[in-house]
Order: sequence, then structure tokens, then C-alpha cells
Amino acid sequence: MSRSLHRLRHGVLPNLRYLTGTRVRRCRCCQRFSVIVSLSPGDEVKRCLICGANLRYEMLAEQIRKLDLEGKTVVELDPSSPLRQILMRASRYIRTYYSPTEPAGSVRPDGARREDVTDLSFAAGSIDLMVSSDVLEHVPNLERAFAETARVLKPGGLHLFTVPPRGRTRRRPVEDPEYHRDPLDPAGILAHWDIGPDAAAIFSTETLRLQVVAGPEGADRRVVWQAERT
Ligand SMILES: [Zn+2]
Repeated sequence: MSRSLHRLRHGVLPNLRYLTGTRVRRCRCCQRFSVIVSLSPGDEVKRCLICGANLRYEMLAEQIRKLDLEGKTVVELDPSSPLRQILMRASRYIRTYYSPTEPAGSVRPDGARREDVTDLSFAAGSIDLMVSSDVLEHVPNLERAFAETARVLKPGGLHLFTVPPRGRTRRRPVEDPEYHRDPLDPAGILAHWDIGPDAAAIFSTETLRLQVVAGPEGADRRVVWQAERT
């Protein structure tokens, strides 16, 4: 079955009842007047028909717009997100994807570069801004990911990110697996972490300070996290 047919049968048809949540309003990501199509009870599949952003991308977009990207180097842990139009304003915008088998730094035909957030190929202190949306909860060695963030960011540099909000932070037990939607794999991708408000105390270090900078918002109580290189 083709991917779009699979999506229609499993993603769209069972969720048509949520279409009543569809709204026409200005999208906070692309800033255009748009239809925000609703196909879920929460905010995850309420997407802008123009740019594809859902609530977490709209919240990230607002935080990114507060920054001056002129002369900045930006890394996004996603090869093609709705934030692309905004992040392209940076002097250097590196879109990345993860593959366990390909060598670090290899570049796909679409220009995306292979990176592992626990073993980045960038020089120390070379990045002004990192952006990721619902990526970090899938990284088994999350402490290592934050250590790499601290290494590659310039002093004052930021990693803005979202993760699915949870009540408290814990490594998810193997007997309680949770799979999230993955555009590359219909079986989904395993979440290794629940991340709650206590993550600021758990993962902040002398060189990286975590805090919530936006939210909570919406039915899913979404927040935007900021990890700042001190
Ligand atoms: Zn939009």
C-alpha cells in the first residue's frame, strides 16, 4: 500500500470526527491567514494547511522570531520542518537527519547532513542556535546529548526544543514501551524518556542551563524548553 493511501486509511479516515476542531486563523509559524485542519483531539494533528506547523512548531517559531539570526549559524535536528522558512534567514542553516549506519557529516542529495546529537561533527563553540522538536525523548543517552549541546554551542548560544510534556522525568521502562509517529518508519519510533518540569534540575550543568521559556499551552499543555550555554 502506498504511503499516502496508508495515511488516508489509518491517519485521516478514523479521525474525521475531529475535523469540527478545524479553524481559520493566522498561523503563528508562517504568519499567513490559514486553515488549521484538525485530525486529533489534542494539538498534535492540528496543522496549518500552508506550512504544516502544529502547536509545538508555532510555539517554537515565536521563540525563534525573538532572536536576531543575522550572522548566526543554526542547526536544526530535522531535515524539513515547518521552521525552515524562518531558520533560512540565518547566515548558515544546517538541516540534519539521523541514521545509525551512515558516516557522520555525510550529506544527502537534498542537502541535509547526517548528525548524531550524542556525537556531533561540529567544532566546539561553533553554533549559535540549535532547534529540535520532539527529538530528545528518543535519545537513549540524553545526558550525552546535552553534553554535546553544551560543547558545540557558543557561550550564550541556545538549544530551543520541545518534547512531549510529562509530569516527571524518567527513563521509560522497557516493559512500558511508547512509540511515536515517525515519518521514516510506519512502526513508529520508541520514546526512551518521559520529560517533565523537573528536567531543568536534572539535566542543567555548570555550562548548560535548562528552563521553560514558553507555555504551557493547549490541550496537550505544550511548553518550549531552552538550554542555554552559559
Ligand atoms: Zn503556517
